[in-house]
Amino acid sequence: MTPFSTLPLQPPLLQALDSLGFSVMTPIQQESLPPIISGRDVLAQAKTGSGKTLAFGLGVLARLEYERSDVQALILTPTRELADQVAQTLRTLSRFIPNLKILTLCGGAPVKPQRASLLHTPHIVVGTPGRILQHLREESLTCNALRTFVLDEADRMLDMGFLEDMHKIRAHLNPQHQSLLFCATYDESALALSQEFQRDALHVRLTEAPNTVETHFYGVHEGERFECLNALLAHFKPESAILFCNTKIAVHDLCAQLRKVGHSAVALHGDLEQYERTDVLVQFANRSATLLIATDLAARGLDIPSVDLIINTEMPHDEATYTHRIGRTARAGRSGIALSLVDPHEKTYGPIEPCIKAQAHPICAPNMTVVIEAGKKQKLRKGDILGALAQEAGIEAGQIGQIDIYEHQSYVAIARGALYVKRHAIETLRFKGRKFPVWIIN
Ligand code: ADP
Ligand code: MG
Repeated sequence: MTPFSTLPLQPPLLQALDSLGFSVMTPIQQESLPPIISGRDVLAQAKTGSGKTLAFGLGVLARLEYERSDVQALILTPTRELADQVAQTLRTLSRFIPNLKILTLCGGAPVKPQRASLLHTPHIVVGTPGRILQHLREESLTCNALRTFVLDEADRMLDMGFLEDMHKIRAHLNPQHQSLLFCATYDESALALSQEFQRDALHVRLTEAPNTVETHFYGVHEGERFECLNALLAHFKPESAILFCNTKIAVHDLCAQLRKVGHSAVALHGDLEQYERTDVLVQFANRSATLLIATDLAARGLDIPSVDLIINTEMPHDEATYTHRIGRTARAGRSGIALSLVDPHEKTYGPIEPCIKAQAHPICAPNMTVVIEAGKKQKLRKGDILGALAQEAGIEAGQIGQIDIYEHQSYVAIARGALYVKRHAIETLRFKGRKFPVWIIN
């Protein structure tokens, strides 16, 4: 609990904090503000809502030379909404500093008024990468005297494909600038970005997930992995689990092996077509598949719901990947379990135990998924689906799970037991008086 007053901040900034009712720093502010104010490059990671905007916002304002008239800080955000939010926070923080100019430059807004605004040089520019790059190229915006460059939600910008734009933008900046990266996840891509954009960066991380994850490391020799895996599944009986492999081939083979012995498993890897990925993710989310076998790359950036068990069927090659994998359990304050199979050649992150002995038995998901080849385009709604299932196939609401309606397709989770009995009735269903192809994936 450290007060802001311990930081070397100008009186108008302290006054603004006071008027906001903010007296003590959040943990990420406490860790990142001192090095930011001292001019160091910082990579900061903390979950959403931990106060990152104020961390870089105060840092940027603390380092400004108000009397100079040039662009001293450039803040990139992945979306317009976020740029507006950041600019709003900066305006609030700087309300007691006279004549400070903050400008937002985002795509989707007309360019002409932006050019006009730039004639009065702002101290701080906030915006989205495409439009900022356009202004830099036109030289309506110049950053020859830039002091601080901020990438907010850097991980999201990477996911949105802004890497190239970020590089091009950087080429227009004063090479002497301080560079700050803020993100919610800490993984190889964040580390790579830091390597490319920063010098001697201090990494500040506040990950709370690993604290609540129970971890075990089981020693295996080659040829024992599958048996050990089956024993662990029988012992821990997950309702949903992600099993990580290092390669696409391993994912494919393991999924086939697991299905062969009766587990309800689906595979996610980079070679899948978009519709196949959707099938897989829907089946996992609606509890038609209990085990998701995945590569790191395929699982990156996906909003996969919280799972109760993670298994590293092979150890990842670096600790960042390991942390990222086990962070997929124990979300939102729930506890989770992460198990790793470690052979004598692999790196472990904890003490090795012998594998648990348990009689293997197949894990069966509670639901199956019905796919209807009709979606938003055909104006299919939840009510149409529920109605048809009830009236024509006699399936009660209690047997129907998650319904996902996409552009051209809809997915309905139905209790496995109900589906076995009503299979024919379902495959011949009519929706809105029309016959669409209907099939069951399992
Ligand atoms: P993040 O970017 O980490 O997702 P935000 O910067 O949007 O989080 O902050 C989340 C909320 O916390 C905001 O409403 C902000 O006003 C508030 N906040 C930030 N710092 C403090 C603080 N030191 N004391 C109290 N509230 C704070
Ligand atoms: Mg933020």
